[in-house]
Amino acid sequence: MYKLKVQSDKCNACGMCALECNALQEDSSGKVEVIGEGIIADSEVGKVRNIVELCPVGALSLTEEFVDMSAKLAELKSKMKQPLKFTPPPYDDYAFRLEDKDEYAQALWNNSRGGVSDEYEFDYKSASAARSAGERAFRDEIYSQADALAQQVIVMYEQRKMNRVARYAETSGNYKYGVHQRLIKDLRSFVNELESFTGKKFPLPSDFFTFRTRDTDYINRRQEKSNDWLANRIRENLESASEFYSCVKTDKTSEYVTVSSWFGSDKEKLVYKYAYYIDADGLKRFYNHVVRATWKSGKYTKQDAERELDAFHKAIEQEWLGKIDYLLRQIGDEG
Ligand code: SF4
Repeated sequence: MYKLKVQSDKCNACGMCALECNALQEDSSGKVEVIGEGIIADSEVGKVRNIVELCPVGALSLTEEFVDMSAKLAELKSKMKQPLKFTPPPYDDYAFRLEDKDEYAQALWNNSRGGVSDEYEFDYKSASAARSAGERAFRDEIYSQADALAQQVIVMYEQRKMNRVARYAETSGNYKYGVHQRLIKDLRSFVNELESFTGKKFPLPSDFFTFRTRDTDYINRRQEKSNDWLANRIRENLESASEFYSCVKTDKTSEYVTVSSWFGSDKEKLVYKYAYYIDADGLKRFYNHVVRATWKSGKYTKQDAERELDAFHKAIEQEWLGKIDYLLRQIGDEG
């Protein structure tokens, strides 16, 4: 029996061999690796020998070795029947934690740059008039947008955490994608070894190396939860506006009617104007409250991510068992 080997330090990741040979696959760096033990069926030896000779850097080799095929087959069958193991991401990777609030508040602040925080108005006859105007502006422009701001926090949370864990995305670092890749690799290895050990070619359905299980509908259902529900929860959790008015600052401007000083007592008619502005630190505090309210209203929770992952694991396990059963039936083992 022949075994194919790769000297990984020599391989330059040209990709030529993996296209031609079922016993090889590319790893994440583009270099090739042998699938399973690299045992080559007798019928494939001629073809694989050509592939070995074509490697431009001599990284491949084919050697004849004694292999106890029935022992190998028994070992492989028991490996195929092992229950699947999953290692879901740690809690911190998907939980929306209050400790993260500064990061989310900072992101809201970054998004608001050039907005109302630059507001500086002066056209008021008294400090109290300026302050009332400032409070009105704050209420109309900032506080009234608390619902929309909270939804921004939710969107940021989805993008940073939930999408990496609870939703399928074809990117490295995505948990579900990683599970798919691992299972596809294992399946390829099983098929390859079964064919080598039995000397048979199995008819495989065209979608055999594909898993349909991506998202269950759990998170999607949570996402569809009405925004009104979210807005109401946020309103319940956002404390009184008066607390936030502390970020409105008033100031006396240096503007006055200089011409009046030319007419003696008219000097008393000096007109001072007053300004208000929204204090940046105060606004940051407000965003912090929004983040806290969002966290308390909890559109998604750690439990949501866990339920989604649980449902995903069950569903993909079903698919996996179906594929393993199919392979076992091909070799007359009904499990
Ligand atoms: S042909 Fe050789 S160098 Fe190219 S990927 Fe295969 S082993 Fe690596």
